[in-house]
Amino acid sequence: MDISAELIDQIVAHAREEAPNECCGIVGVLPGRDGAQPRAVRVFRAENIHKSPKRFEIDGKAVLAAMRELEDSSLEIGSIYHSHTHTAPYPSQTDINFAANWPGVEWVIVGLSDPSAPEIRSYLIEEGVVREVALEQIAV
Ligand SMILES: [Zn+2]
Repeated sequence: MDISAELIDQIVAHAREEAPNECCGIVGVLPGRDGAQPRAVRVFRAENIHKSPKRFEIDGKAVLAAMRELEDSSLEIGSIYHSHTHTAPYPSQTDINFAANWPGVEWVIVGLSDPSAPEIRSYLIEEGVVREVALEQIAV
């Protein structure tokens, strides 16, 4: 998806605030039409109900609240983001299993194993197959 530097900063800031626990949240997008990339418009922080450095589960109430807000503006949930505070920003087997519940949604992962150099990547996970997709930085 296309995303502004400002929204990337918001996601990385959330990851840093929650560290060493994993953070999680939702990115609302304007859907891409005619093959265009979806464009990120809003970051919604959510609670990691496990408050754990090793796993996350997004608070279902936060998902519903974000969906309601997005629907009113014809926006969609385009991405679920979370952080890996000790490992590379690559989906774990748990992430891959969980992604089965979210077809078509990009998985944005912030890697904070080097806190001074956060890495942020995005993936589509379909039928257990992980494919990295571009996070294109756009000016707003
Ligand atoms: Zn993960």
